[in-house]
Amino acid sequence: MLCEQKYGALLNNLSSPEAVEAELRAQGCVDFVGCSAPVPEGAGGAPEQDRLPEVTGTSSQDGETEREIGSRAAGEVAATPRLSPNIRCLVYPKGDISRFKPARPRAYGLLGYYLLDAASVLPALVLDVQEGHSVLDLCAAPGGKALALLQTGLLRFLCVNDVSSSRTARLRAVLRSFVHKELLTDDRVRITSFDGRKWEEFERNFFDRVLVDVPCTTDRHSLIEEENNIFKRARTKERQRLPQVQLELLLSGIQAARPGGEVVYSTCSLSQLQNQYVVEQALQQAREEHGVALEVVDLRPLTHLFRDTFHFAPDTHLGELVLPHLSANFGPIYLCKLRRLN
Ligand code: SAM
Repeated sequence: MLCEQKYGALLNNLSSPEAVEAELRAQGCVDFVGCSAPVPEGAGGAPEQDRLPEVTGTSSQDGETEREIGSRAAGEVAATPRLSPNIRCLVYPKGDISRFKPARPRAYGLLGYYLLDAASVLPALVLDVQEGHSVLDLCAAPGGKALALLQTGLLRFLCVNDVSSSRTARLRAVLRSFVHKELLTDDRVRITSFDGRKWEEFERNFFDRVLVDVPCTTDRHSLIEEENNIFKRARTKERQRLPQVQLELLLSGIQAARPGGEVVYSTCSLSQLQNQYVVEQALQQAREEHGVALEVVDLRPLTHLFRDTFHFAPDTHLGELVLPHLSANFGPIYLCKLRRLN
């Protein structure tokens, strides 16, 4: 983690995506999503027009996506997980530590890509957003994962929330730099600044998908950044409270999801206390205190699919963990997916 972090360029489907992708490919970048799960010819590519793009992996009669079928045909893994479509993230190949240039305005004055740790795209990908979904991003600022979710072009409604008003302002600015303002109307994208732990007090059993990307010890950042470091003595109590805050946020997100809905919990920490332990506690409390049964969705096929891009921890018993590695210095990102059974 002390070596330079690798980034990914999340392509903005609303601003010259083909031209931007061609430029990045000419520099040696590859779309780690598309190259791991190839989309059949003619099915991909977001049209550059005044709306969010169509589904890349179209549905077959039994609801299976072409992306799933494609990877089965390749004989990879029988149970390839369903991924949110249309998300493209370009990275320099393994071992290549070139840096991306800052994004510049393209069509409609919108930025061509958003730079982020490429592993941060995984929670949005595994959320499996489908046509007409209502999605809640409970801790959304500065907005990388919300932007990834918007790239699907499938959402009926996206609610992006962050307790911090200054970070919510940044989130709003990010969205405005990447999305046409006509698409940012309150009935399509709601931006709020509530304490996510209290969400269940006013909205329950509603969202098809919920992303709970919690505040954590941000391990990589904490190693290299002195300012406002969460490991400083003055922040000891706050740090010790983190697992409890994370648990309350996850429980709140679970209750905001509809029965049958899915929730992805993620952190950028290596700490089991903030990862598996929080999920275990949430499963137990959801069942015992709220009567909500959940199943844990197996994400091992995902690690297989993206094994050429990320280095996954070999033996997490609950969820998956992208470990920083010298040849693939992304992460850490922990993610666990839960499905509400009732
Ligand atoms: N999902 C974001 C992205 O992809 O850009 C990153 C989220 S960051 C890891 C965690 C966020 O949680 C911070 O912006 C923080 O302000 C917010 N947060 C902390 N406590 C919260 C709470 N109780 N309710 C809602 N948001 C909270």
